[in-house]
Amino acid sequence: MVIKVGVTGGIGSGKSTVAKIFAVLGVPVYYADDASKRIMNSDPEVIELITRHFTGEAYKDGKLDRSFLALKVFNNKGNLELLNSLVHPATIRDADRWLSMQQAPYVIKEAALLFESGSYAALDYVIGVSAPYDLRLQRTIARDHSNRDQVMARMNRQIDENIKMKLCDFIVYNDEEQLLIPQVLKLHELFIKESIERNATLRKS
Ligand code: ATP
Repeated sequence: MVIKVGVTGGIGSGKSTVAKIFAVLGVPVYYADDASKRIMNSDPEVIELITRHFTGEAYKDGKLDRSFLALKVFNNKGNLELLNSLVHPATIRDADRWLSMQQAPYVIKEAALLFESGSYAALDYVIGVSAPYDLRLQRTIARDHSNRDQVMARMNRQIDENIKMKLCDFIVYNDEEQLLIPQVLKLHELFIKESIERNATLRKS
């Protein structure tokens, strides 16, 4: 039985960075953001829904026009929620399919909106990646070459980080004070140990 572990956190907290460390350890990782981009470009049902709600301009030469869509959802909470509601069900189905095919002791699903989308319910544990607001802001500005106001607007639309972290089973602190790799290694050992114990219990029953 594969243990399913979510990794979540606010924009720029370091979710992908943490997930990549797990991947280096050989753990299969599902990146929900990459998957949703793929799905928006390939799932006929999702393409039809996006076109219906956001017009044919949402696709240019058969490819999702990300800047058009970004303009539609930027500073428009209703449109952002609408877009999420069109894409999330297909992403959750895709992740569930992926999870059911894995055979490792445990797997990671990295997603920004695990709690908001309800998809945390299918997971055994959730790891929250926590970093101070200003550091998240600086990292995201540097990574995306975006301006401060745009990143702050995106950050301020998300659930408060403190609330999110309270919902998590484990917290990884990515605050440039505590080293990331030892924290991930500790969790890796814990999940491997639990997997061994679970399998031993299954064999006995
Ligand atoms: P998003 O929600 O926007 O996708 P994220 O939570 O996945 O963000 P990352 O992409 O992992 O965050 O990290 C944001 C940026 O900060 C990246 O450029 C990453 O390389 C950098 N970063 C993250 N953690 C660290 C760290 N401990 N030291 C140095 N740079 C870091």
